[in-house]
Amino acid sequence: FGDKVKQLSETIWEIDPSYKEGMRVPARIIGTEKLIREMDDAVIEQITNVATLPGLLRAAYCMPDGHSGYGFPIGGVAAMDAEKGVISPGGIGFDINCGMRLVRTDLTEAEVAPKLTELVDLLYTRVPAGVGSKGFVKLAPNEFKEVIAEGSQWCLKNGYAWPEDLALTEESGCIAGANPEKVSQKAIDRGLSQIGTLGSGNHYLEVQVVREGNIFDRKMAEAMGLFPNQVVVMFHCGSRGFGHQVATDYLQVFLEVMAAKYGIKILDRELACAPFRSPEGRDYFSAMKCGLNMSFANRQTILHRIRECFARIFGKSAEALGMRMIYDVAHNTAKLERHPIDGKSRELLVHRKGATRAFGPGHEALPERYQPYGQPVIIGGSMETGSYLLVGTEGAMKETFGSTAHGSGRTMSRTQARKQFRGDRLQKELRARGIYVRSASFAGLAEEAGPTYKDIDEVVDACERAGISRRVVKFAPIGNVKG
Ligand code: 5GP
Ligand code: MN
Ligand code: MN
Repeated sequence: FGDKVKQLSETIWEIDPSYKEGMRVPARIIGTEKLIREMDDAVIEQITNVATLPGLLRAAYCMPDGHSGYGFPIGGVAAMDAEKGVISPGGIGFDINCGMRLVRTDLTEAEVAPKLTELVDLLYTRVPAGVGSKGFVKLAPNEFKEVIAEGSQWCLKNGYAWPEDLALTEESGCIAGANPEKVSQKAIDRGLSQIGTLGSGNHYLEVQVVREGNIFDRKMAEAMGLFPNQVVVMFHCGSRGFGHQVATDYLQVFLEVMAAKYGIKILDRELACAPFRSPEGRDYFSAMKCGLNMSFANRQTILHRIRECFARIFGKSAEALGMRMIYDVAHNTAKLERHPIDGKSRELLVHRKGATRAFGPGHEALPERYQPYGQPVIIGGSMETGSYLLVGTEGAMKETFGSTAHGSGRTMSRTQARKQFRGDRLQKELRARGIYVRSASFAGLAEEAGPTYKDIDEVVDACERAGISRRVVKFAPIGNVKG
């Protein structure tokens, strides 16, 4: 990688600020040599651009699943000084609070197998997927404003949640300080009908199995309610058109004020930002939190539907089927958190874009039951290869502001994938291998073939070697509703 890249440890690579004019701190990329070689060149340019942002502390980080994105790489982590730093929509992503939720059941693979197609078909009709999909929750604009102010609490009030679900969601499913008045009418109009919908492409609802031999930490797995041959459900979605519109609106605002009002020069207009403590920065933060809450409510409502589907297919209530949440965690956010800088605890604005929070054992933000183990981290692999449950570590707290990977990350563009794979053929092949997939679009399915993603085992291995998370269980896919 040239003499500007220094290998700090087996899996941590540092690019010196002398690499590029304007870098305030180094950039650090986490990964095995293989993963780093597989990253597109734009990742290095993007993460070093991020290192020029005002107020950035310690280093701009890229996780092992990193690939290039809008402004920031996907897999980017940037912690800003809350007083002197900036907030940047490109560091959060258009799909605000895109995240993963994992739900356990008492069912075994043998019990589910005979009913798998029926189950997946029902999930496919009950949890709408695809670009323009509309949900079953019909809301007036004023009710939608309640949803974005209250997140999962709104769901609890309206019969779409169990009380314990909230305790098992990051921020208890409702982040304080969301202000619906800071959100445009256009964003509200786009979001109104989207509660309870998956969205397209990379978003999914997967029925998975804990295979014997894929449990890496028995004690933790047991404490989290996991056992061999068990069926679990993992799903991935975000704030749909609502979050996208919020991000779009504020990117425009930031482009107008960034240089003219605040004299901030950036290397890439996709890194548009504003001082966090400026009126524009604060407004975006409040609006972005509405996106966080919308997404928590979306995943909560989807969970409600999943429970209904299982109850119908297996003729028992969701409670009787043991359909308890393991956890819900975001991977597109910026949050105020306290972390030590030069030995002193400071309030930082931590941007995570395609990166998962991974707090270590004993952190006050963790639910009581996970205190001894660390925060559950839910990571998708692909519809073919499997996914993981990890936990956060002390190492993540020290190195990456409590962050880790969020998936395997793409190896090829969607255009290239469509040339290489065919959705209908892929669906048949997967079926023959015991994975029943229903998708809103065959073209979309082709873009999501296993080889379009990096090797999830390699990514997780890199996270473990870097000390930023630990493996608990790997899940194998058997059914999937694809966006
Ligand atoms: P994102 O789209 O949020 O950047 O990435 C989510 C991650 O989920 C991807 O990096 C990929 O590894 C993973 N993923 C995408 N589609 C699927 C799927 O259908 N099933 C599973 N298990 N993982 C997926
Ligand atoms: Mn998303
Ligand atoms: Mn995502």
